[in-house]
Amino acid sequence: MRVKSLLAVTKQIGKNLLFNQSGLHARHCSLATCSLQNTNANLHPLWKGQLDIPGGTRQSPIDIRVRDSIFHPDLAPVKTHYDPNTCLHIWNNGYAFLVEFDDCTDKSVVSGGPLENPYRLKQFHFHWGVNNDWGSEHTVDSKVFPAELHLVHWNCTKYRTFEEAIMEENGLAVIGIFLKVGRHHEKLQKLVDILPSVRYKDSLTEFNYFDPSCLLPSCSDYWTYAGSLTTPPLTESVSWIIMKKPIEVDHSQLAVFRSLLYSAVGEDEKYMVDNFRPLQPLMNRTVHSSFQPSLLLSDAKKKSEKHTHRQQSG
Ligand SMILES: [Zn+2]
Repeated sequence: MRVKSLLAVTKQIGKNLLFNQSGLHARHCSLATCSLQNTNANLHPLWKGQLDIPGGTRQSPIDIRVRDSIFHPDLAPVKTHYDPNTCLHIWNNGYAFLVEFDDCTDKSVVSGGPLENPYRLKQFHFHWGVNNDWGSEHTVDSKVFPAELHLVHWNCTKYRTFEEAIMEENGLAVIGIFLKVGRHHEKLQKLVDILPSVRYKDSLTEFNYFDPSCLLPSCSDYWTYAGSLTTPPLTESVSWIIMKKPIEVDHSQLAVFRSLLYSAVGEDEKYMVDNFRPLQPLMNRTVHSSFQPSLLLSDAKKKSEKHTHRQQSG
């Protein structure tokens, strides 16, 4: 019952916020999992008046506590099959840039892992900080990454459209991938090169033939938990799949992300940075892992000390 009433409350908010209200170019906003830092006094308009969901019990993002996560042996690897021909365009919607896909068919889908059926890819986007010290939405044992990629998919077996799925149970599956600063990411560069053409809010440009599976880490280990969108309408419709290993990008690639603007042409320039939602309480949820957690260093040290002691005394 609680879920039903929460959905009812958020449905109207969702209708209001999923559309760009700037006038002529009104269109769907598929960046339903994005957010902005709402601790900042200078709030992005998206967040004015709607910072949380009263009664929410499975909000995102969260801090993943490695020791508290439970290994689930039945969790198979997540399988992505993306057709680069379904990649349509890139769009600055005023709080992030989105790469959107044609989701009329099952050509680009994710399946496996915790998912009962295939989910179609709708869009991907990133969250990032003003510098390399923060930027990700999720954290791991309180460790923050400079950026986080979200690949947003919807349940095309249960629902008819993305807009319907985001408001409902088991509507969305989002793969989250941490970015850390290191080596240059060759495949990401194609995207970075096009970013200056969507510098301003509401700008859109063609972006074709991109297969986002090139942005997945080589290691298939992940955590999964039940959560929410991290932007309004904040509905609790998301099966989160957070990849354990980050991917590496170099500093200059993140610098181009930070050169984008929240503002439209002719407005005062405001840099698009810190577009993440703060951590939410875990409450009564369990994070499952697809992998056996390795021993923490401190545990390993204790075990080895015990072993040494036994050898000495025995
Ligand atoms: Zn997001």
